[in-house]
Amino acid sequence: MSGAGTPTAREDTGGGTRDGDWEVSVDRLSCTGTGMCVHAAPAFFGLVGGRSQALGSPVEPDETVLDAAENCPLEAIRVTERATGRVLAPEEF
Ligand code: SF4
Repeated sequence: MSGAGTPTAREDTGGGTRDGDWEVSVDRLSCTGTGMCVHAAPAFFGLVGGRSQALGSPVEPDETVLDAAENCPLEAIRVTERATGRVLAPEEF
């Protein structure tokens, strides 16, 4: 697996490149722009055009990214483990 996926229209990884083990993406069609993730993890998310965008991906593992994904009311943030593709957040019930 190369891990260099091309962002789709729905999943915006911000276009930035960082070295790290986690892929972070935001479903901008689901995002309603609450800003909660930007407040919780300003190093990783920013509001662009009224909706959240990952400031870069992949990223180094960081609990604040998981917290932001878990607390998004729309479950618009997805964090996956780059090596395995396993979804780390949001947790499925
Ligand atoms: S918490 Fe969710 S809905 Fe709110 S800005 Fe972030 S991605 Fe969008």
